Amino acid sequence: MNSHVTTAVIRNTAKPAPKRTPPRLLQVVKSERISAHMQRITLAGEAIKGFPDDRNGAHIKVFLPLAHQDKPVLPTLGPTGVIWPPKEEKPITRTYSVRKYHPEREELEIDFVLHGADSPASGWALKAEPGDFLGVAGPGGPDPLLAPADWHIIAGDMTALPAIAALLEELPEHATGYVFIEVTDETEHQPLVTRSAVEIHWLYRGNLVAGKSTLQLDAIKQIEKPVNIKTMSAWVAGENSAVVNIRNYLKSKYGLTKKQLYAVPYWRYGFNEEGYHEERHRVMDEKY
Ligand SMILES: Cc1cc2nc3c(=O)[nH]c(=O)nc-3n(C[C@H](O)[C@H](O)[C@H](O)COP(=O)(O)OP(=O)(O)OC[C@H]3O[C@@H](n4cnc5c(N)ncnc54)[C@H](O)[C@@H]3O)c2cc1C
Repeated sequence: MNSHVTTAVIRNTAKPAPKRTPPRLLQVVKSERISAHMQRITLAGEAIKGFPDDRNGAHIKVFLPLAHQDKPVLPTLGPTGVIWPPKEEKPITRTYSVRKYHPEREELEIDFVLHGADSPASGWALKAEPGDFLGVAGPGGPDPLLAPADWHIIAGDMTALPAIAALLEELPEHATGYVFIEVTDETEHQPLVTRSAVEIHWLYRGNLVAGKSTLQLDAIKQIEKPVNIKTMSAWVAGENSAVVNIRNYLKSKYGLTKKQLYAVPYWRYGFNEEGYHEERHRVMDEKY
């Protein structure tokens, strides 16, 4: 009998679509104040297993417990999409950034701006203690978060600082450009680590209300692209008006396309997340 068998190996070269992971129920293991109004919350738990270690700075959803709950009731993934718990148990949802995932310790750090004790997420972070529960879904958002280039403009306020700190840690040595971070004053400084050659500038808003200054746009208007630069990309996040004004300026001055320009409003002055969510998506969906 002829035992010769020919086997054909068919290799699928396309990158497989990432499998959606259901929201994870995690617990606080540490809560520390890293600057006057920034609280770093470290989360861990069995459900963190498999969290990717190459998405620092990426978007995540957090699910907060309601006033009568210790643990948030998390949505689940059904065959046709997300299944939410009934209204009386539906968690409060906010969007945050992965500050850093530590695979060796299986711990996730999220930095929360403390802008008010009465706002759900900021108020939760202010009081968070080891053992408290938080739901986390993601990470998601553009990958890479910053389009690779020789020269970058990166700007944001304190809500963007966790993602900016993560971006800086990833930038290669040859990357150049400018980073503008708007805060109230030097009490909001935190150490930033980068091997790149970008210039980091802290901009002080002083007594001006968050979301009511033009400091970042004014600073960006002062810089010029060096003549020898071949590729550039920009990254802007923070309060709605600041982001939209900077985005419009960068588009007209440098002709940046959507691929080269991440411009995402993270919050809007005078609106909570429920009131602003749809408008953010309208801004993000604008074509350019
Ligand atoms: C992709 C993405 C990533 C984000 N990453 C982070 C992050 O890593 N860290 C972080 O702190 N935030 C981050 N944010 C912003 C955060 O989601 C908003 O600030 C959110 O509104 C906070 O929820 P809250 O419950 O505290 O306040 P809300 O209930 O949403 O708002 C209550 C009131 O507070 C005001 N407000 C909201 N945020 C601020 C602020 N920062 N300063 C002053 N007033 C404010 C609102 O205008 C409103 O009047 C991110 C947002 C997006 C879209």
